[in-house]
Amino acid sequence: MNIILLGPPGAGKGTQAQRLQAERGMVQLSTGDMLRAAVAAGTPVGLQAKAVMDAGQLVSDDIIVALIADRLEQPDTKAGVIFDGFPRTTAQADALDAMLASKGLELGHVIELTVDEDALVERITGRFSCAKCGAGYHDRFKQPRQPGVCDACGSTEFKRRPDDNEETVRKRMAEYREKTAPISNYYREKGLLRVIDGMADIDVVYGEIASILNGKS
Ligand code: ADP
Ligand code: ADP
Ligand code: ZN
Repeated sequence: MNIILLGPPGAGKGTQAQRLQAERGMVQLSTGDMLRAAVAAGTPVGLQAKAVMDAGQLVSDDIIVALIADRLEQPDTKAGVIFDGFPRTTAQADALDAMLASKGLELGHVIELTVDEDALVERITGRFSCAKCGAGYHDRFKQPRQPGVCDACGSTEFKRRPDDNEETVRKRMAEYREKTAPISNYYREKGLLRVIDGMADIDVVYGEIASILNGKS
């Protein structure tokens, strides 16, 4: 099954997608991660995207749709994809529909996580991740089980994103409200939208997503 996780920066999309990938063998497809990899590798896309990301604005639809189209060519995506951070505009949502239709694929659910704006800022400013495997953590809400050691791979190196500061976060939230929030209606009208309270604990949110995927709620 293919699903979209929708929600503002810090809502918990990446956290839930990593767990769905680990426990259910679905494939997390994060356009933010793909863009950061392109920036780190210094590719033409990375060079174009870096300043836009640092400013908290959206990268152009053309770049994003091309990234996703390429990624969907890889056979591992047949296991079922979690779109994390995509689509973020109605143009991207239209492009996704066309891509899926041309491949005979469907969207099972669009799951929106809602979180208060103040909590989002706290989540984003406390976020860090494993430098080796990318597993996500939080200073307050999700420390590694053994302090300083990644649960997933044992690495002791961690990193923080340059755009995870309060000023950029506010800008990203404004972008979300203006350009991304409208797509929840688009999916509601298609009967695909499920809204979950993203303020709940990580495990509770995961349980709700799992019961939607299992057809139990
Ligand atoms: P997104 O991918 O939507 O931007 P993340 O999954 O990276 O968000 O979560 C942002 C931060 O908040 C991370 O540091 C994560 O550990 C933490 N977090 C995620 N979900 C919750 C939750 N339900 N309660 C508290 N903290 C959370
Ligand atoms: P978060 O979930 O914390 O907002 P992401 O890692 O999803 O962060 O995205 C980081 C940045 O990458 C965004 O602020 C934006 O500049 C760019 N980006 C990621 N996905 C998209 C997308 N689908 N469309 C446009 N820009 C994107
Ligand atoms: Zn790790």
